[in-house]
Amino acid sequence: MTGAKAGAPSRVAVVGSGPNGLAAALVMAHAGFQTEVLEAQATLGGACRTLPLTLPGFRHDFGSAVHPLAAGSPFLRQLPLEKHGLRWLHHEAPLAHPLADETAVVLERSLDSTVKDLGPDGAAWRRMVGPLVEHWDEMVPDLLQPLLRIPRHPLWLARFGLFAAQPARLLADTMFKTERARALFAGLAAHSFLSLDAPFSAAVALVLGAAAHAVGWPIPEGGAGSITGAMASLLADWGGAVELNREVRSLDSLGGRYEAITFFDTTPGQMRRLAGDRFPASYARKLARFRPGPAAFKVDYALSEPIPWTAAGCRRASTVHLGGTLGEIARSERRMLRGERTDDPYVLVAQPTLRDPTRAPADRHVAWAYCHVPHGSQVDAVEAIEAQMERFAPGFRECVLHRSVASPRTLEAGDANLQGGDISGGAMDIVQQLFRPTLRAYRTPDPLLFLCSSSTPPGAGVHGMCGYNAANAALRRW
Ligand SMILES: Cc1cc2nc3c(=O)[nH]c(=O)nc-3n(C[C@H](O)[C@H](O)[C@H](O)COP(=O)(O)OP(=O)(O)OC[C@H]3O[C@@H](n4cnc5c(N)ncnc54)[C@H](O)[C@@H]3O)c2cc1C
Repeated sequence: MTGAKAGAPSRVAVVGSGPNGLAAALVMAHAGFQTEVLEAQATLGGACRTLPLTLPGFRHDFGSAVHPLAAGSPFLRQLPLEKHGLRWLHHEAPLAHPLADETAVVLERSLDSTVKDLGPDGAAWRRMVGPLVEHWDEMVPDLLQPLLRIPRHPLWLARFGLFAAQPARLLADTMFKTERARALFAGLAAHSFLSLDAPFSAAVALVLGAAAHAVGWPIPEGGAGSITGAMASLLADWGGAVELNREVRSLDSLGGRYEAITFFDTTPGQMRRLAGDRFPASYARKLARFRPGPAAFKVDYALSEPIPWTAAGCRRASTVHLGGTLGEIARSERRMLRGERTDDPYVLVAQPTLRDPTRAPADRHVAWAYCHVPHGSQVDAVEAIEAQMERFAPGFRECVLHRSVASPRTLEAGDANLQGGDISGGAMDIVQQLFRPTLRAYRTPDPLLFLCSSSTPPGAGVHGMCGYNAANAALRRW
């Protein structure tokens, strides 16, 4: 079943086994290439891995925890991953956002229920996300490809763009009458690590909000590693292989100089260093200009009981956004972006054991929480994260049996792509979405070398679309 042109190498090497590396490997193996994935770490999956980080019997997600983009990915949805052990679990609600009045705004699976709960802002919510919910399967392939491609559905995309291009705060202030809807929108937009006053900061909020209704925000049974585990198992069925504990330090270590089509599931900087003189100086300079984003500071908890949220809505949701009102979140994110310390950060919390008992011993729980800190920050944010937890779940600290703290430096030690703690593969502002990391996107000046990590379009998230698009660019070339 080879699709290779005459003269194409028969081998493919993929540097890195994150979801994008595995996606590229799957496409190439399926096209008949002899495909090998080389992974520096002892476990596969990059930032989509599950590890025993605290006490015996507790399983924690090193990186991603909740997976709307994987469940809604046009590529991953085509693969028979369920046959390889992947099972999606849905909490009753995708998201809750608690507020100072001891209630929570809840983003429900059902668009109609959410519209009803948002009261005077329900109609605006439907206007903003309804078309994307209704046409998810048709629109998402357009959204998860380089922005400068001709879209398949230009009219729908233009309509989406009218909202998406706006700064999140401006759009929320214009569209919503209540603080509740504005806070919900701010928590969704802040996933982007952008200032809520930056153009296009509304885009992530709209995509994640629509995904909640279209495909849900599910977790994989057993943890995020079940996604990459299933991908690797399918790859083995298709004749490919993964070698662990194999850090690639030079391209020559991959065999003959021009023998393999090589994909880099790495940062652009690392690809530049590995490629050495195979890139012209002008391209190497462009790669060097690609900017990393801010960082995450993460804590994984082993808990004696579920998080004791005051607002009942939080006890039904896979994810909880902490930080209060739109004004509070915008302010703390702005301080973080200026490189300042913040004591009341925006915090993302996932609580997988409410739905998946396999992740902890009987009646015990795990929780995953991170906040945004400046790139490479060495500040200890545990106190700030737990102060936010205590604000909305008094008594939280008494439930903690053990905590595992991951500073930006720890994250990078566990996955070289998380440079300085940047979990997005490079800042996600509009300039870097257009030039990710250059206008060539996946292709490089060397016809055998391709970049396939989240530093290419569409960017961060477990969806495999960077790897899928990169492999298709290689198949078109070869
Ligand atoms: C704390 C955190 C929370 C997140 N939360 C979510 C979430 O809830 N939902 C979501 O969808 N996304 C989330 N993400 C983002 C998501 O995990 C990433 O966008 C995604 O994993 C990127 O995939 P990738 O294949 O591009 O790179 P990665 O997953 O980073 O994989 C890169 C791999 O390449 C390997 N590598 C690098 N250099 C070399 C080398 N020289 N030789 C060999 N191997 C090498 C690394 O070891 C790593 O295994 C989160 C990320 C983090 C860190």
